Amino acid sequence: MKGRKLLMIPGPIEFTPEVLNEMARPTTSHVSPDFIACFGECLEMTREVFLAPSAQPFIVAGTGTFGMDMVASNLIEPGDRALVVNTGYFGDRMGDILSRYGAEVDHLRAGIGEVADEDELREALKAKEYTLVSMTHVDTSTAVMTDVGTLAPIAKAAGCLTVVDGVCGTAGAECRTDEWNIDVHLTASQKAVGVPPGLSLLTFSEDAMDKFRERDEPVANYYADIDNWLPIMEAYESRSGAYFGTPAVNLIYALHVSLKQILAEGMDERFARHERLAGAFRAGAAAMGLEMLPASEKEAAPTLSALYYPEGTDASLCPAIADEGVMVATGLHAEIKEEYFRVGHMGDCNESDILSTLGAIERALSSRGYTCSAGSGVQAAQDFLTGK
Ligand code: PMP
Repeated sequence: MKGRKLLMIPGPIEFTPEVLNEMARPTTSHVSPDFIACFGECLEMTREVFLAPSAQPFIVAGTGTFGMDMVASNLIEPGDRALVVNTGYFGDRMGDILSRYGAEVDHLRAGIGEVADEDELREALKAKEYTLVSMTHVDTSTAVMTDVGTLAPIAKAAGCLTVVDGVCGTAGAECRTDEWNIDVHLTASQKAVGVPPGLSLLTFSEDAMDKFRERDEPVANYYADIDNWLPIMEAYESRSGAYFGTPAVNLIYALHVSLKQILAEGMDERFARHERLAGAFRAGAAAMGLEMLPASEKEAAPTLSALYYPEGTDASLCPAIADEGVMVATGLHAEIKEEYFRVGHMGDCNESDILSTLGAIERALSSRGYTCSAGSGVQAAQDFLTGK
């Protein structure tokens, strides 16, 4: 491993050398002609990566949680009702943020590892009127993927604004923002977008912008207020500089490189590659006797996997995997966090990373006294990748 470990946690991920080089370039003025062009192109490319040709993009310094805060602070007014299609830890967080700004929040929960289906959503929307329905595309605590393409149009047809937390999905798991009626799609830089932590990326539909414009009360969060950010995004997109808060210059340069790499691969090809690598990883894990947390393949995310520790092993497996050269993450869902671990496979991840990780897991399992047939995980993944 040449003195460094392969980073296979669900964000931050391994970044490309071209992206990392941008972090070391001399920082320019945020209103230099070069930077203005770079920021303007980032906004345009965000629309392409999000498949949101008609949306208003925002790129703001902050983490994914700031993006959630930006949604809630701008779109919620006291007394609004919000429904969270909850698949784990980040659904809970979204609920907390929405209620912080005065929303009455209900959660539509399924069992751990599952997600509510369209009938359950329809029932919930019939039972009460909601202003906003939020869903996490891929919940990083459970590796459960929500069928946003089915659920978002149902919520939209019921007159709700639809919000998708794409932090662990965007640019890896298929998400068609405009086609799927997603009013706000938010993500962060450090996962499949492929840039070190520190940027929030969002797109707002015309309906979301209208809801903001129709507010009675000013936005309670000064830094998040769209009134402050919209003129900045519009200025950069029309290739002039503007200032509200200093942009994260080097991160934006890095984002420019990453978005170009993503678009050069092609969105459909990228979604398919993530599905393929995830399929290979899950085939390998299953062959070693590891059970996954998502209830079915249909709900299993293409960007990360969550696997139960097999009988006789526990959370000490993760440092043992690190000793074998690969960093993975422990559990996050409060109710079962001691029972499972998580492996990210998104962004620049490739076939060799998947095989290395399965090999490291097998060696670590063996060091914890769990045996499976030698090479079975790697073999199954290879068979999957070669179509056997
Ligand atoms: N939503 C999801 C689905 C996430 O995975 C994360 C980060 N793990 C967040 C929101 C919050 O993002 P951040 O840690 O960048 O604030």
